[in-house]
Amino acid sequence: MIELQDIWKTYADGTHALRGVSVLIERNEFVYLVGPSGAGKSTFMKLIYREEIPTKGQISVNGFNIGKLKPRKIPFVRRNIGVIFQDYRLLPKLTVYENIAFAMEVIEAPKRIIKKRTLEVLDLVGLRGKHASLPQQLSGGEQQRVAIARAIVNNPSVIVADEPTGNLDPETSWGIMNLLEEINFRGTTIIMATHNKEIVNTLRKRVIAIENGSIVRDELRGEYGYEN
Ligand code: ADP
Ligand code: ADP
Repeated sequence: MIELQDIWKTYADGTHALRGVSVLIERNEFVYLVGPSGAGKSTFMKLIYREEIPTKGQISVNGFNIGKLKPRKIPFVRRNIGVIFQDYRLLPKLTVYENIAFAMEVIEAPKRIIKKRTLEVLDLVGLRGKHASLPQQLSGGEQQRVAIARAIVNNPSVIVADEPTGNLDPETSWGIMNLLEEINFRGTTIIMATHNKEIVNTLRKRVIAIENGSIVRDELRGEYGYEN
């Protein structure tokens, strides 16, 4: 469960990115974050994976008050949250296999487990045949599948995805959405910022709209609500 209580985020230059956001996201929900560019969606997600800390307010993820976390506890919280970006952010000199296995090496998983689990997630995203490829040898959709495999390899309870289909054509985007739905179905909470009206209006989920740092709409099976 994720809970934000009166969260304010002001960056060092004085920009107010979030202005008193309160929201509760239950385990296993699938949430779209929508709203204009600059509204605060990325900031919202960065607070959840503790890339940023709130200026004011409390945020808890699975019972941890993550704004006040002791430094030594940060890795424990981070491993429980998988992050996916619009631009994939794979390590360019590592193979597909190595990019995924690396996420498990970081948490010092046993070698035998790393191999078994890495091959398992490669199967789940349909890329076992590409295990030895470098990212640059893959299409955008395939690279995003690798990024998804990396995000889920440590079995996080939450996936945060910042415009995961933003660089992909419509058909490839639907494939990525099917995969995210499957991951959600298997028990992972998903929070996804998106500008994809077609996807939001077709695969109906909870929609939280943010404008100018505030939540202006929060609906189950909601609509995109903007022209594009
Ligand atoms: P969105 O993801 O909805 O486009 P962001 O959360 O990225 O919105 O940005 C919200 C506001 O905060 C914007 O005005 C943006 O310019 C500003 N912002 C984001 N990151 C920083 C930063 N590191 N320093 C200063 N301002 C920032
Ligand atoms: P074994 O240790 O059983 O001989 P291998 O090292 O030959 O296994 O790898 C078997 C499979 O594991 C490969 O086909 C591949 O999918 C995966 N694998 C293991 N290590 C790597 C790696 N560094 N890069 C890519 N694939 C790997």
